[in-house]
Amino acid sequence: MLIVMEQNATQAQIDAVVHTIKELGFTPAPMPGSQRTAIGILGNAGPIDPGNFTALDGVKDAIRVSKPFKLVSREMKPENTVVTVGNQKIGGGDIAVMAGPCAVESLEQCLIIAEAVKKAGATIFRGGAFKPRTSPYSFQGLEDKGLEILAEVRRRTGLAIVTEAIDHDVLDRVEAVADIIQIGARNMQNFSLLKRAGKSSKPILLKRGMSATIDEFLMAAEHIMCQGNHRIILCERGVRTFADHSRNTLDLSAISAVKLLSHLPIIADPSHAAGRRDQVIPLSRASVAVGADGLMVEVHHNPTHALSDGPQSLYPDQFEDLMRQVRTLARIGV
Ligand code: PEP
Ligand code: MN
Repeated sequence: MLIVMEQNATQAQIDAVVHTIKELGFTPAPMPGSQRTAIGILGNAGPIDPGNFTALDGVKDAIRVSKPFKLVSREMKPENTVVTVGNQKIGGGDIAVMAGPCAVESLEQCLIIAEAVKKAGATIFRGGAFKPRTSPYSFQGLEDKGLEILAEVRRRTGLAIVTEAIDHDVLDRVEAVADIIQIGARNMQNFSLLKRAGKSSKPILLKRGMSATIDEFLMAAEHIMCQGNHRIILCERGVRTFADHSRNTLDLSAISAVKLLSHLPIIADPSHAAGRRDQVIPLSRASVAVGADGLMVEVHHNPTHALSDGPQSLYPDQFEDLMRQVRTLARIGV
């Protein structure tokens, strides 16, 4: 249930609602909002009588939340959440672009790519220091050395850093360095990791599991938010289908579906969806057209020698072209 307060409700009236929720044995979850104060009720197994609240002073409405996810739902918060990272707003109307190699390979590699993507207009640098690989024999990442390199990239370029945390221990180390902590597709339902991410003070980039439904995706975000971290960016990165012309299928409809159901920003990752570079630019255009708040794109200056995901990595000049096209689309307001 969601308790919506009158616009001019006093703090004492809000406190009285919080007190009543606690008295009933439930957990109050105040939602930050610019228009009005709303207080979510968590922890109830069954329906609650709205009469408990509508009789209280300052209460405008008590709404039953019809979805299994509450805090992340639009019912709870009608206006878009905007996550700010450095000077970049994600969810505020801009197209936020995170770009870089799949994996951090060396400082030199990262600096070459970071300078190129920055020049093209990206504001956030991506690069995995801890890589979740299908094969145990593939490159697993430079680990802590990789995090040091990412910190150096930020120092030298001013770009914000997004990098993946693959488990609890790694999340502690990533948290100390990253501006955004990525939870990858394979960990979307690692509930204990989601809970830990929910206690972080850093924004979380949550990627959709490769066969997750929208409800499962939003419930994963709910796990993070109900621990107190409201700064969540969702990412559609392609789902497993019968298609064999690409690695996965970018589910463009997930972007518009999520925007209807949730106030959270959602970006697209056409690189992991396609698995091949020729589809990355067209899928980026489509993502922007369907309403994505940003893109995550893999870029490498020497993809034939990349230690992971070379075939889907754009050359820097292709990335520049992508950014030009995205800017044009943004300008005409698709
Ligand atoms: C990544 O972004 O490096 C990655 C591994 O992506 P995903 O979790 O979407 O496969
Ligand atoms: Mn990759």
